[in-house]
Amino acid sequence: MAELPDKRTAPVDWYLAVVEAADLSDKRYGVKGMNVWTRYGFRARRNLDRVLVREIEATGSEAVEFPALIPATEFAKEKEYIKGFDAQVYWVTKGGLSELDVPLVLRPTSETAIYPIFALWVRSHQDLPLNVYQIVNTFRYETKTTRPFLRVREIHFFEEHTCQADEARATERVRSNLAAFARMAASLGLPYLAIRRPEWDKFAGAYYSIAFDTPIGGARTLQLGSVHHYRDNFSVPYGITYERADGSRTYVHQTTFGLSERLIGAIVAVHGDERGAAFPTEIAPYEVVVVPVPTAPTRAALEATAAELAARLDRAGIRAFVDRGDERPGAKYFRWELKGVPLRLELGPREVAAGRVTSVDRFGRKGSVSLAGLETEIAERLREFDDELGRRARERFAASFAVATDLAQLAGSDRVRLVGWCGSEACGHAIEKAIDGALLGTPEGPTPAVDGPPSRCIACGTTEGARWAVAAQPV
Ligand SMILES: [Zn+2]
Repeated sequence: MAELPDKRTAPVDWYLAVVEAADLSDKRYGVKGMNVWTRYGFRARRNLDRVLVREIEATGSEAVEFPALIPATEFAKEKEYIKGFDAQVYWVTKGGLSELDVPLVLRPTSETAIYPIFALWVRSHQDLPLNVYQIVNTFRYETKTTRPFLRVREIHFFEEHTCQADEARATERVRSNLAAFARMAASLGLPYLAIRRPEWDKFAGAYYSIAFDTPIGGARTLQLGSVHHYRDNFSVPYGITYERADGSRTYVHQTTFGLSERLIGAIVAVHGDERGAAFPTEIAPYEVVVVPVPTAPTRAALEATAAELAARLDRAGIRAFVDRGDERPGAKYFRWELKGVPLRLELGPREVAAGRVTSVDRFGRKGSVSLAGLETEIAERLREFDDELGRRARERFAASFAVATDLAQLAGSDRVRLVGWCGSEACGHAIEKAIDGALLGTPEGPTPAVDGPPSRCIACGTTEGARWAVAAQPV
C-alpha cells in the first residue's frame, strides 16, 4: 500500500487518503457528494449514533421520525430560513408522469416538516416542554467541493427540536444541550470550543446560534455541530401556541440541536496521524483485532484460540475481530493501524502455550496480557488507550491557538487566532478578510491562551466593549 500524504503539509490529501484506505466510505456512487457507507464505516456510524442517543435521551428527549418530503407551502413560511436554504434544496416536482400541484422539498433540515405537526401536538402548558429528536438523512445541494463526511449532499443527521414555555426555558434547553454535547465529545475524545456565532453567520431564522468548533491544524477549524435558540421566530409563522395556566394563549419558544456524520470526519481529522485513523473505543468499528501469528503446524490451533478469545471479548461487551487472512502478520498490523483499531492482540504459539498474548495499542505501546484475566486486562488497556488519545488531542488543541493583536498577523496564520473584537459587523468582516476565513464568534466560557479581557478591537482599535473572538479558516 502506498504511503499516506503528509498530514501537516497536505492535510486534505491526507484526510481523503485515510478515509479511502481505511475503507470508511466509498465515493464511487453515481451522484457526486452522495457516498456509500461501507461495512466498516457503518459500524463507526452505528456506534456514534449510540452515543448521541444515550446522551440526548438522558436529558429527557424522545425519538420521532418525520417524512423526508416537505410541501413547498410549508417550506416557505419562515422567510429567513428560506433565504438560508433556498439555493441548497433538492425539489421533487413530479409524481410519476404528472407535475405535482404542490412541489415537494427534500428536507435540508426538518423545521418545516416538523413544526406544522408541533402546532397540532402542543395544546396546553401540560404539553411542554416538548423535546424530540430524530436521526435521519437530510439533503443539500452543495456547490462547493464535496468531501466524505465533511461536506456531502446526503447527510446522516441528528436533529433535536424542542418547544418550551418561554424564552428563559428555551435558554435552559440550550444550556442542557451544551452539557449533553460536552458528554458526547468526551466519548469521542474531541476537544472543542463552544462559540456564539456572529449575527451574520447564525442559523437562518435563529435568535442566536452556538456552534462547536475544533482546530484541525494551522488556522483551520471544523464545525462539529450547533445549538440554536429560535425564540418564537418559527412558532409565530407555524402557529405553535399553548394555553397558559391562566387560560391565555401564547407562542412557544423553540430550540434545535444539530449534529451529523461530520463527527466521524472530525475523529479522522483530529485523532489521525501518519499511520492513519485512530478511533476512540466507543466509536471504533472494532475495539480489538486479534491476529494469529502461526507457524505452519500451529495454524489451526491458533486460529481456534483467536476465535475463542474474540468470543470472550464479545461476551464482555468488547467488539473484537479475528483477522484470518493469508497476508503476513506485518501487513495486517499495518492495515489495522491504518483503520484505527485501538488495540491488537498478537497470538504466537509459544506465548499462548504460556497463557499469555501480546497487546499493541494504536500508538505502538506494547504489553502482555494473561489469557486468564483477558476481559479485565483488555478493558484496562482500552481505558489507557482512550486516556492517551484524549491527552494527545488536548495537547494539540492547547497548542492550536494564539493571540493576534494586529490584523497583519492574521495573514497566513499557522494557528487559530484569538482577537479583540468590538462586536461590529464591519470590524468582523475586516478580520475575516485579513485571515481569509471567518470570525467564528465569541467563546462561551473560558477562552484558551488568554489572560483577562482584550485591550482593544483588532480592527478599529476601540477599547470599549472589546471581547475575545475566534478567527479561523473553517473547512
Ligand atoms: Zn472594531
